[in-house]
Amino acid sequence: MDTRIRTSIVTGANRGLGLELARRLLDRGDHVVAACRIPGRATALNGLAGEHPGRLHVLPLDVADARSRAAFAAELPLVLGEAGGIDLLVNNAGVLHSGERFGHLGEANLEHSFRVNAMGPLLLAQALAPLLADGATVANLSSQLGSIAGCGRFGTPSYNISKAAQNMATALLAHALADRGITVVALHPGWVQTEMGGEQATESVGESAAGLLDVIDGLVEGDSGRFLDWRGAALPW
Ligand code: NDP
Repeated sequence: MDTRIRTSIVTGANRGLGLELARRLLDRGDHVVAACRIPGRATALNGLAGEHPGRLHVLPLDVADARSRAAFAAELPLVLGEAGGIDLLVNNAGVLHSGERFGHLGEANLEHSFRVNAMGPLLLAQALAPLLADGATVANLSSQLGSIAGCGRFGTPSYNISKAAQNMATALLAHALADRGITVVALHPGWVQTEMGGEQATESVGESAAGLLDVIDGLVEGDSGRFLDWRGAALPW
């Protein structure tokens, strides 16, 4: 039996789903590296450190910034220490620009969304690949709004396009990491009551995070490259 403490990384862990995922991973005994843009302002996240002495490390990371990703990757071995490789990387950080309309869409939202939602998960996974344990899991928080098959109205195009690009990144990463038994999946968390999802959303943060972790725990190697929701149901690309 493997008695080693599992190491999990969550990006965008200062609020919303990322914070709840970090909390639940700590509750179940993982060693958690929680990444966020400004650790000094991550009050709720830092509050968890006192409840789980020695098992939570909060590190700065702007997933859209190359230097920040490089600094994060360089610092990780220092905090991992004897814990060894990373067992789970949750690329959770994401951004949604609302109020976009056809005829008025500009470059800025598209570029920013692409940097955060698509480039971020892909390039972070690439940078951390040498530190991933064989048999690890990479879970990319996608969205059903990134499904081309489920394409609807022109409401949040920057988000839709960047999550569709992230989905392709997930499929490519699954191939790139297959020989090490690393499972890479795209996960839709449901419509969740966070700042992004809003108060009208149907799922609580707790329900969604619990579902996502159940799905992650139940993954087998053959699931790599799949697009699943928080209940484990397959979504069309
Ligand atoms: P929130 O808006 O509540 O939180 C977003 C998180 O991402 C924050 O921690 C934010 O940090 C972080 N973030 C944004 N940009 C960056 C960046 N450049 N570098 C690092 N961190 C960044 O969103 P949710 O918790 O709802 O969403 C989590 C994930 O789930 C996202 O990928 C989202 O697309 C996806 N999702 C959510 C749905 C929902 O209904 N809520 C539905 C489908 C998918 P900061 O506080 O610094 O801005």
